[in-house]
Amino acid sequence: MITIDIATLFPEMCEAVMDTSIIGRARREGKYLLRCHNIRAYTTSHQGRVDDYTYGGGHGMVMQADPIARCLDATLQLYADAGAPRPRICFMTPAGAPYSQEKAKALAALQGLVLVCGHYEGMDQRVIDAYADEEISLGDFVLSGGELAALAVADSVLRLQPGVLKSPEGYEGESFYTGLLEYPQYTRPDVWRGMAVPPVLLSGHAANIDAWRMGMAVRRTRQRRPDLYKALPPEIASPPAKKPKKKK
Ligand code: SAM
Repeated sequence: MITIDIATLFPEMCEAVMDTSIIGRARREGKYLLRCHNIRAYTTSHQGRVDDYTYGGGHGMVMQADPIARCLDATLQLYADAGAPRPRICFMTPAGAPYSQEKAKALAALQGLVLVCGHYEGMDQRVIDAYADEEISLGDFVLSGGELAALAVADSVLRLQPGVLKSPEGYEGESFYTGLLEYPQYTRPDVWRGMAVPPVLLSGHAANIDAWRMGMAVRRTRQRRPDLYKALPPEIASPPAKKPKKKK
């Protein structure tokens, strides 16, 4: 079972999200262990200070190294006390490696993961240098804090854990898992505002439905994400054309 620790100035924000919906139900069922740690609880400042002005001058405040380091030391101690291997420590930062489903799969195979959230103008580089196994970016945009990024990482990792979704099919057919975007999905009614569900989906013919879905997934990927399409193995990118049926 995986353990995820989130080091943050806003544990209540993380708790609220992790207690909701599928991930929340799985948490209550004990399918994983999640702990949120308030970095502010680890400051030695009497005023509860965790940030300070940036050296060299400039706009905004920077999170100090020491409260983060003390929070991480306490978290690592929890693993040591439990006889568990050292977890992977990932700092959330726009300067990190772009996050992907591939990375989610790799992190999902770990026993322990610590996600560190910055705020204000970011974190003192020295604590990143001292503790980070990797730095992760959610994308090419700037969030106010690392919580949304950490929650996205935690959610994407947790839904790959055994028992969190009802069956692995829940994620195996999803976008990116096999390098493809997912095919379009439909539910009842079969005609909505004059738009009908593609007839093949109502045919009950499983092989035809699979073939239609695969074709749509490949087409969507080619149209919307040429970068992903280029990386597909040739047998998926251009499946052999069906032989036309001979006329009797
Ligand atoms: N000054 C920083 C910069 O320009 O790169 C941005 C700091 S941001 C306002 C505050 C915190 O939000 C960061 O320390 C990081 O933890 C988090 N954050 C913001 N954007 C992010 C992203 N795209 N991916 C991951 N974390 C992000």
